[in-house]
Amino acid sequence: MNNNKQAVYKRILLKLSGEALMGKSKFGIDPTVIEYISKEIAAVLSLGVEVGVVIGGGNFFRGKALFSAGLDRITGDNMGTVATIINALAMRDIFERHDISALIMSAIPMSGIVEHYDRRRAIHKLASGNVVIFAAGTGNPLVTTDSALSLRGIEIEADILLKATNVDGIYTADPALDPKAKRYSSLTYKEVLSKELAVMDLAAFSQCRDYNMILRVFNLHKKGALLRIVLGEDEGTLVTKDSQVDNS
Ligand code: UDP
Repeated sequence: MNNNKQAVYKRILLKLSGEALMGKSKFGIDPTVIEYISKEIAAVLSLGVEVGVVIGGGNFFRGKALFSAGLDRITGDNMGTVATIINALAMRDIFERHDISALIMSAIPMSGIVEHYDRRRAIHKLASGNVVIFAAGTGNPLVTTDSALSLRGIEIEADILLKATNVDGIYTADPALDPKAKRYSSLTYKEVLSKELAVMDLAAFSQCRDYNMILRVFNLHKKGALLRIVLGEDEGTLVTKDSQVDNS
């Protein structure tokens, strides 16, 4: 389809929430959703783009919610962190079934099941065409996998961070509640803060801003959206340090 087109990014880091893997279920993993994601990723790999994935765990546990339900906060965060490894295992399995070379690098060692995170090896594996799935977040409690997205993105020198959500980007208001809500094509970090738009956890957002990362928020469930992004098309919302006139 886009055979003659050139990717505008060499290395992307994609953040998938655990919820993105649930499909229509209320909990857990729907393998058909991962199959769909693997096809979307295969399309960008075929352009020679290097793909890293940070996977969430909210389809199983989130420390904050477990704490509200009465569990110790750190234990809850540890449970959420382990959940990201479960998701990563399912993803690796389905990616490999679709002939996509993939490996999992976990911030927490789990010998014999996943590799321990190693920045230089991750970069090497990405450069040789493997999808690297970053699991166990940052390895620390009290943050979410948004922080893993910013941290790993900076570490592996990703050209862009892609945060997949269920809506087509950042809107003036919640589009599910306000039919007049409009999508922003691009925003600066400053504008996101001044308009108090919820994009990602504040700690992660500040880190992205401080290290001048380019971030795009988009809807992965929109078929072909990932490919359009790597081709430089206007998909979702781009967040950058300075105003962006032309994203292509
Ligand atoms: N978590 C953590 N440290 C990290 C990443 C995740 O403690 O570096 C825990 C935290 O409790 C978080 C949960 O794992 O809520 C699942 O991750 P997240 O909420 O980011 O999942 P998502 O919402 O993306 O599915």
